[in-house]
Amino acid sequence: SEDCFKINPDYIRSFVFESKLMPSTWIVIRIDGCHFHRFSDVHEFNKPNDKQALDLMNLCGVAVLEEFQDIVFSYGVSDEYSFVLKKDSQLYQRQASKIVSAIVSFFSSVYVMKWKEIFQNKDLKYPPSFDGRAVCYPSNDILLDYLAWRQVDCHINNQYNTCFWSLVKSGKSKSEAQNHLKGTQAREKNELLLKEFGIDYNTLPLMFRQGSSIFRVKTENTSMLENDASSIVKTETKIVIEHCNIIELSFWEAYPSILD
Ligand code: ATP
Ligand code: ATP
Ligand code: MG
Ligand code: MG
Ligand code: MG
Ligand code: MG
Repeated sequence: SEDCFKINPDYIRSFVFESKLMPSTWIVIRIDGCHFHRFSDVHEFNKPNDKQALDLMNLCGVAVLEEFQDIVFSYGVSDEYSFVLKKDSQLYQRQASKIVSAIVSFFSSVYVMKWKEIFQNKDLKYPPSFDGRAVCYPSNDILLDYLAWRQVDCHINNQYNTCFWSLVKSGKSKSEAQNHLKGTQAREKNELLLKEFGIDYNTLPLMFRQGSSIFRVKTENTSMLENDASSIVKTETKIVIEHCNIIELSFWEAYPSILD
């Protein structure tokens, strides 16, 4: 009816709740697969670590960095990825819900699009989804503490899961394996792996033990001009994936431009 033209748009807009992230702070968007315990079961991921599933997560992570120029670093493990946006980012005027939803939906779409590239002989059985959240970290030290926390989590979970699945594959039930590991320290877990299963934990693939870090590096490309002794130096930025220790400060000292 004609009445609907009488609505004052400012009145409608006054209900919108906008939460803007604190200015001049690192923004971390962490996304995590919804119910991937089930998703990994249904899609028969290798346990404890399916390399292809991690490769797919990493492809999505790289695509996100290509799409969102303000992301300076990202760290992935299992079904999660943390994306760090530069301190002065003005992406969506720093509105948390816009940034989170844009990144999480882009990531999910790429996951589905690239599935067949990675799993050539496996069908995607249902649409995967991810949740996301935004947190601000006010200093470099606190940001590095956050990332160290994620990498410690990766290590602890991987060590536990490697033991757990070794026990299960050797014939124990899941609850027997759980009880066997209850209260054991890191050193005891490594001993169990070595003595009972001949696995030296420190020789497992770096991607499983350290997770994946994606970031930009600047490379200087020198090319000689034809029929000329002079050369031109071009600086190019490329995106790299590494499986390295990001708890030690030496990593950040080796790539000072990340937190510039
Ligand atoms: P939520 O929805 O609360 O996140 P979830 O089932 O996804 O629940 P998480 O704590 O996120 O629980 O754990 C993810 C689970 O997904 C792991 O426990 C593991 O079983 C499985 N998973 C994820 N990635 C892999 C992988 N690369 N290889 C094997 N299993 C994996
Ligand atoms: P933003 O990222 O800011 O949302 P946008 O380009 O998506 O930018 P919108 O205001 O959301 O801008 O408008 C969506 C645009 O998408 C429309 O202007 C129109 O051009 C196009 N579009 C969406 N749905 C249709 C459709 N069903 N048929 C034709 N065009 C469409
Ligand atoms: Mg979750
Ligand atoms: Mg999950
Ligand atoms: Mg998870
Ligand atoms: Mg739009």
